[in-house]
Amino acid sequence: MSIRMVLAGGGHAHLAVLADWIGAPPEGTERWLVTSHRHTAYSGMLPGWIAGAYPAEALTIDLEPLARLAGARLVIADVVGLDPDRRLLELSTGVRLGFDLLSLATGGESDISHLAALGDRLLPVRPVQPFMARWEAFLGGRQGRVATRVAVVGGGAAGVELALAAEQSLRRRLGGKTKVALVAPRDTLLAGHDQAVRRRASDLLRARGIAFHDGHAAGAPDGLMLPDGTALAFDAVIAATGSRPPGWIADTGLAVREGGFVAVGSDLRSASHPDIFAAGDIVSRSDRRVERSGVHAVKAGPVIAANLKAVLAGTATRDYIPRRRTLYLLATGDERAILSWGRLTAGGHLVWRLKDWIDRRFVERYAGFGQFRS
Ligand SMILES: Cc1cc2nc3c(=O)[nH]c(=O)nc-3n(C[C@H](O)[C@H](O)[C@H](O)COP(=O)(O)OP(=O)(O)OC[C@H]3O[C@@H](n4cnc5c(N)ncnc54)[C@H](O)[C@@H]3O)c2cc1C
Repeated sequence: MSIRMVLAGGGHAHLAVLADWIGAPPEGTERWLVTSHRHTAYSGMLPGWIAGAYPAEALTIDLEPLARLAGARLVIADVVGLDPDRRLLELSTGVRLGFDLLSLATGGESDISHLAALGDRLLPVRPVQPFMARWEAFLGGRQGRVATRVAVVGGGAAGVELALAAEQSLRRRLGGKTKVALVAPRDTLLAGHDQAVRRRASDLLRARGIAFHDGHAAGAPDGLMLPDGTALAFDAVIAATGSRPPGWIADTGLAVREGGFVAVGSDLRSASHPDIFAAGDIVSRSDRRVERSGVHAVKAGPVIAANLKAVLAGTATRDYIPRRRTLYLLATGDERAILSWGRLTAGGHLVWRLKDWIDRRFVERYAGFGQFRS
């Protein structure tokens, strides 16, 4: 009888697992990929897409050929529930899918509860695919308007990159009077990055005329309300707020940490259910703090692939050991980028060229399966 292995989520963390299955399919297994959308967008290139450096195809990976070559059945559906004891996934289509081994990497959600009053003006950056469609529609609807005001909420790397990219995009696409603001508590602005990186980004925001508003803003029907009561009107608010765990995890009985993220050990195995692995933005490590970023999600992929096979073979699993320092390259929307690596920082066109090369190579590696091997 074959072992059924299911991957839930077709994003950054699971691409390497599909590639591993293409190269060396695990014997005696029936393989499935359950994911919300057939296409997955590489988030590192999203700011470049907004700024006009890339067409949508440059950052989009089609999961259909990848799954087919990996020998995996592709199911386009949301996982809405999980019974880890009975090893059953509940899908949005009503199907209950059993598994012997499961890897969960459905990513996090943007925490937008405090922004809900914005209604249609709110554009959460996650999930990325619907965000791209809504941003295009927004820009289309603003053609010919006298002025356009956009805010980005969230002071992490994504928030800073999106504000800089939006400023370029509005100026290029709409011209006329456009205004971009970044709203976040000051102490969260590129938190975790060196002081010199934070200063470089602040200087750049100022130089580009992007207003920075300090504080946790709340959504209002026509914009944002700052903690001191200041009301700011915006035509669109991009939410790049931190990742929170998907709500359905809470009802599963899986061990969780940090307010609902899936608790995993150093080998990315669930702390409560050994038949379940998890990686990327959905997890919290019991042994150490690991930043929720694409870099770690991508690097966890090969470990998940190896550990699924280790369980099949009855051998020891591998640990995911993050490097002490992670290289971050932040796009600034003008074909330049800021490098942040521990205490080292640099900026300019050469840094952008490096980022562009790394990012394109990543997407081409996976998109290439569809173009050349299907
Ligand atoms: C604008 C932006 C820029 C970023 N830039 C960088 C960067 O430069 N460097 C960096 O390191 N990190 C960056 N990040 C963070 C990075 O995108 C995430 O850390 C990374 O995507 C996490 O990978 P993941 O595999 O956990 O989830 P994802 O890549 O989000 O993949 C989740 C997958 O699961 C699917 N899915 C979601 N819910 C369900 C469900 N219920 N059922 C089934 N499938 C589901 C989705 O469709 C998707 O295929 C950026 C994030 C954003 C928003």
